[in-house]
Amino acid sequence: MSSIQSPRGGSGNNDKLLSRVALLNSHLSTCPSPPPPPPPSPLPTTTTTMASEKEAALAAAATPSDAPTIFDKIIKKEIPSTIVYEDDKVLAFRDINPQAPTHILIIPKVKDGLTGLSKAEERHCEILGYLLYTAKLVAKQEGLDDGFRIVINDGPKGCQSVYHIHVHLLGGRQMTWPAG
Ligand code: AMP
Repeated sequence: MSSIQSPRGGSGNNDKLLSRVALLNSHLSTCPSPPPPPPPSPLPTTTTTMASEKEAALAAAATPSDAPTIFDKIIKKEIPSTIVYEDDKVLAFRDINPQAPTHILIIPKVKDGLTGLSKAEERHCEILGYLLYTAKLVAKQEGLDDGFRIVINDGPKGCQSVYHIHVHLLGGRQMTWPAG
């Protein structure tokens, strides 16, 4: 190893310099590790929303699926909702957590075991068709003349959170594909 040369020369200075370097090295080797990087910034709102929807869907799937739901209270007018269409068979009201400028839910007033589309039986054909026809009427009423989207979520993987079949009518913005 080459010795460090003092600008003024002389072995005394050289020794002092070497001992200072050794001291500095020993100090550096005992320095705590650099602080960990700051935690990542919060997730974008859309991702957070997606996560909470998924959590809601998983939580809902854990409860008995034929139990009364919040939609029964809306049908009985026990809780407020913004109803946009109603007849003796169906009710259409604005989603409390809209995913588009127009977001309406269309539900049958009588569930008749139709907690979700996967539970459909032949006797449900008429009400299923009526739900879709009502969606078309409401889309017209809402002025969605350039198009709209119909969604029926089913089961935990389909992100269903309310086990009373319902058709989502979404419109008022450009939709993208594939759906998330
Ligand atoms: P899904 O996740 O397909 O089961 O849809 C259930 C929908 O019901 C969600 O979009 C919720 O925002 C909506 N929702 C839940 N409670 C209410 C309520 N009290 N009024 C209006 N919409 C609601």
